[in-house]
This record gives sequence, C-alpha cells and structure tokens, in this order.
Amino acid sequence: MTLLDGRVAVVTGGSSGIGRGIAREFADYGADAVVVADIREGPKEDGTPTHELIRAETDADATFVDCDVTDRADLAAAMDAADEFGGVSVMVNNAGIWQPEEFLDVSDDDYERTMDINLKGAYVGAQLAAERMLDGDGGSIINISSIAGLFGNGNWPTYSASKGGLTMLTYSLAHRFGSEGIRVNAIHPGGIETMIGGDSGGDPDQAEAFTQQVPLGRYGQPEDIGRAAVFLASDLASYVTGESLVVDGGWTSWR
Ligand code: NAP
Repeated sequence: MTLLDGRVAVVTGGSSGIGRGIAREFADYGADAVVVADIREGPKEDGTPTHELIRAETDADATFVDCDVTDRADLAAAMDAADEFGGVSVMVNNAGIWQPEEFLDVSDDDYERTMDINLKGAYVGAQLAAERMLDGDGGSIINISSIAGLFGNGNWPTYSASKGGLTMLTYSLAHRFGSEGIRVNAIHPGGIETMIGGDSGGDPDQAEAFTQQVPLGRYGQPEDIGRAAVFLASDLASYVTGESLVVDGGWTSWR
C-alpha cells in the first residue's frame, strides 16, 4: 500500500501503545521511514521494539532515537535522524502521560510534569518539525490529543488542561502554517487498549461498564488510531487542516 510513499515520519512515544500502532500503520501504508522517538526502546506491553518490527515485517526503514520530549536537544536529535532518510515530512506528537488525581492535592511538580510532556513536548516537537518542513516540501503535523481535550473531567483536570491546550495549539498552528504547505491536525482518541497509567487489563466490571457506553461496543486498539493518522498524513487529507478527528467508537456522539 503506497498512500504514504515518500513520507518520513517521526513518532514520539512510538515504542508502546498508540504510538507503536501509528508507526506500524505508517510502515504498512508505504512510508519510506519511521523514526521512533521514545524514552524506552522496548514496548511496555512486551514484544519486539517497534523499529525492529517495522524493519522485519514491512518494506519501510525505521530507527529508534532515545528521546525525552521534555528535552529540546532530544527532539532535535529525532529530526536529525529523520534527515538521514531525507527529512521529516510527518510529525506525530504522541508521547503523553495520564493519571487520575484529586485536584486539591495536585502539586506544582505534578502539574509541571504532565504539562511538560503532554503540551510543551508537543509544542517543541511541532516547532522543530515545522522549521525542517519549511526548509523542505511542507508536511503534516499530527497531535495526539484526547476526548479529554474536548470535554472536561474532574478526575484528571491536569491531563484535561494539557489536552485542551494541545487542541488549541493545533488550531493555532494550522492557521499559522496553512499557507506554507504544513497541515496541522489533532486526533482525539477515546478509550484505547494500552498500558497508559498502568496495567491495560484493569477491572473487568469497569471495562464492561465502559464498553456499554461505546456505540461500537469495544475499546479502541492502537491501530484504529494508526489508520486515522495515516489518513491525516496522506494526500487524502490534502484539504484537511485545523481539524479534530475524534476516534472513540462513538462515545462522545451521544453525550
Ligand atoms: P502508553 O501506552 O503509555 O505509551 C506512551 C509511550 O510514550 C510509552 O512508550 C512511554 O514510555 C512514552 N513516553 C512517556 N513519556 C515520554 C517522554 N517524556 N518522552 C518520550 N516518550 C515518552 O500511552 P498511550 O495510551 O499509547 O498514549 C499515547 C498518547 O495517546 C498519549 O498522548 C495519550 O494521552 C493519548 N491518549 C491515550 C488514550 C488511551 O485510552 N490510551 C486516550 C486518549 C488519548 P514509558 O511507558 O516508559 O513512560
């Protein structure tokens, strides 16, 4: 499949979960190369590191860069790695953390950690990628927000604030770069089966209660988000920018 022929993608947090799903779908849909930029090389859910899996099972090239998105130099190193393949044309700001919290107990350190990874990491990632894309042929920036970036939730206010900020960053950058050949969009996943915040299994009763609220009747899988990202990265989305693509099995549609 050649939808992403000629594309070189950087995926932050690409070793595990949704980022791994995005990286793999990019490779399956014909990207030339994927740079997996993460603080860990092996996936949390066990298995072969994403870049090795891509090299073994697809025609795409891939590499791993040890990258903490709170460190500008690490993100620049990920861009440099993409240069080895011809330069970044798709930037996916996916790395993120989530934890439930009681607002009244959130410390400054807790707040800053979530904001630094979820919002500032994407901000700097977009800045460095846009610089390179302006020097090249433009590109597509995809920010992995959340349904929490559209609706408030008192059980994770800092996370919601970070994802709401990411939504507005997306719209602002779409406006800034639209005339210069860079599209910027957000994906808002619903409940996706990953190990974010701990074990993916969780409480079976809670899982059952959740899936009953989802019109499609199941949790999402990382590849569900991966295929949405393929669309936004490809020419199929050439007139799509500043958009929020909700991928939640219909959860938000009847709120
Ligand atoms: P995940 O399974 O925890 O995977 C995230 C990956 O990012 C992990 O490999 C993680 O490493 C890495 N990472 C954490 N901090 C990083 C940093 N500072 N720099 C670089 N990499 C870092 O999470 P996920 O569920 O795939 O979530 C991916 C994105 O989707 C996040 O932005 C999340 O907010 C968003 N999202 C997820 C869901 C969901 O239901 N899963 C729903 C809506 C939105 P460590 O594990 O070692 O920390």
